Amino acid sequence: MAMNEVRTDTAGLPDTPANVPLEKVALESYVPPTRPSLIGLSREQLAANLAEIGVAPAQRKMRVQQLWHWMYVRGASTFEEMTSISREMRKDLEQHFTVARPEVAAEQISSDGTRKWLLRLASGDRTEKAHEVECVYIPETDRGTLCVSSQVGCTLNCAFCHTGTQRLVRNLTAGEIVGQVMVARDRLNDWIDRETPNGNRLVTNIVMMGMGEPLYNFDAVRDALLIVADNEGIGISRRRITLSTSGVVPNIKRTGEEIGVMLAISLHAVRDELRNELVPLNRKYPIAELLQACRDYPGASNARRITFEYVMLKGVNDSLQDAKLLVKLLKGIPAKINLIPFNPWPGTTYECSDWERIEKFSEYIFNAGYSSPVRTPRGRDILAACGQLKSESEKLSARERQALRAMAMTD
Ligand code: SAH
Ligand code: SF4
Repeated sequence: MAMNEVRTDTAGLPDTPANVPLEKVALESYVPPTRPSLIGLSREQLAANLAEIGVAPAQRKMRVQQLWHWMYVRGASTFEEMTSISREMRKDLEQHFTVARPEVAAEQISSDGTRKWLLRLASGDRTEKAHEVECVYIPETDRGTLCVSSQVGCTLNCAFCHTGTQRLVRNLTAGEIVGQVMVARDRLNDWIDRETPNGNRLVTNIVMMGMGEPLYNFDAVRDALLIVADNEGIGISRRRITLSTSGVVPNIKRTGEEIGVMLAISLHAVRDELRNELVPLNRKYPIAELLQACRDYPGASNARRITFEYVMLKGVNDSLQDAKLLVKLLKGIPAKINLIPFNPWPGTTYECSDWERIEKFSEYIFNAGYSSPVRTPRGRDILAACGQLKSESEKLSARERQALRAMAMTD
């Protein structure tokens, strides 16, 4: 279903601008920015940019600090707002740069409060067609989780995943990844001066579980997450950031060492034969290697467990035998298991396991000593649930899928 055909429900929400969903803007009307955005640059890169426009060396550190504060604490979307910076300097900045985030092309609000944004990204050389990516906000009683994308599409073609059916267009830049968090704070009116009685933040947790395989875009994901976690800026602690991977083994250790966030593994099967089929990357990095990387994950402990995601597919991976093998496999790893009811999408041949089966599976795991929450599907009415993210773009032909899969295998 196209996004602009979906009915949104804002009943019960106050009538503020942030609660009026945006209509989809036609792609043809997209005007790419002409100046580069400073969002997503490290402090060193910011200083280098200031040097290029002639800011004196003695001033650079202070200017970087000011910019950092305005961008990531206050959420300024123009230089004009940055009133602690001299007027002249603001004019200079304005001439050369922006603090633009990805453009919100559409917003949908689910009846359960989940919000999905379709974001438009400038293409690399600014002449091609713009790319689109999705980002989802899921409010819960004790937290608000933002599901962030790392790539436009995905090369990995997991059999049950909608994103995998999309043509990979490109990796996101660090700015486009940080930009998703900023768009969410903009649209939810969630920056520091938000007028709420207790000042609580709406976006408290980040999961890299949107479109794409984050560990195939390692550098940009790392740079972005370091900015998101920086406590002089957006300040979301590493313990509240989870990176989910389908199992890019060589980059798992680096994730622990260079980013230090919580790890989630999309396991989904306990035998290589089945996992080869569901998560084709398994042919390159089979289960034993993947679990060894988890055993070695820097920083994993009983207080910082690794999450194993397991999508419940009817008659495929949901037998009691599978549950038993799962428990056996995870022995010795500080783990929690997250059972995800399969979210069907148009054209899939998989079905979600029966509720009774999911409960039995979950009970077995629980009795073996693992916490095993079943993830409640959220935002189903706006196709925002896990694995459903896919912007409108051509479907891959069988041959193209095969070629992409082969490419991913030889990376
Ligand atoms: N590429 C990364 C992160 C994005 S997918 C990864 O695969 O881990 C986030 C989670 O959603 C993964 O566990 C993925 O396997 C799961 N998922 C994909 N499609 C799904 C679907 N249709 N129903 C339920 N979960 C799905
Ligand atoms: Fe890519 Fe993850 Fe979907 Fe697999 S599940 S196709 S790795 S986004």
